[in-house]
Amino acid sequence: MQLQAHLDYTSGKKTAFSPPPGGSMHEAGRAFDLDLDKIKKLTLPKFWPLARRHGLEPIIEVPNPRLSEAWHFDCRGSHDLVYQYYSAKNGDNFKSPYTAMAASAIISIGLKVDALGDDVRPAYIQSGLIRLGQNIGDLDGQLGPKSRQALGQLNIDDTLGLDAVADIIDRKLQQKFPTEFFVPGPVIDTGPAPNHLIS
Ligand SMILES: [Zn+2]
Repeated sequence: MQLQAHLDYTSGKKTAFSPPPGGSMHEAGRAFDLDLDKIKKLTLPKFWPLARRHGLEPIIEVPNPRLSEAWHFDCRGSHDLVYQYYSAKNGDNFKSPYTAMAASAIISIGLKVDALGDDVRPAYIQSGLIRLGQNIGDLDGQLGPKSRQALGQLNIDDTLGLDAVADIIDRKLQQKFPTEFFVPGPVIDTGPAPNHLIS
């Protein structure tokens, strides 16, 4: 669906910006678009402080409803740390810090990002390491020496296997960000989930 939206944007069929797959917080369920013109009496400058109070970030500089993407709000959660990590040039394999953050958020719900390979577990572990304050170089889906060194820093045995390591990372993330994995209500079955997402 994201690819089709992107193709429709590049062909001019759709005017609103749609990035290629793997770079949108919408794909992680961490963004929404809100047309305030449809809600009378609530202007964008009034909505911004309300949104921020609930952890929602606009992606434009000033609350001007005429600007493109004035309608878009991110719920970055802990993935904002990946944005900061790439902003500080700790990694450079993504087009922008935003794309890195979106990729981190997407793989964290068990979905694939083309650039990070078919098995999301190594990238999931790396994303967790970054959010736990470690420096691993690039988030690239390869558990290289820097990633293994970072696991050592957290006293995680990297010979345990990907599922076990991902599980330990998961628990540490939940300790550090208690609201991060809270799923209210029944979980919708969308097919088999990676082991690290089952608790
Ligand atoms: Zn949007």
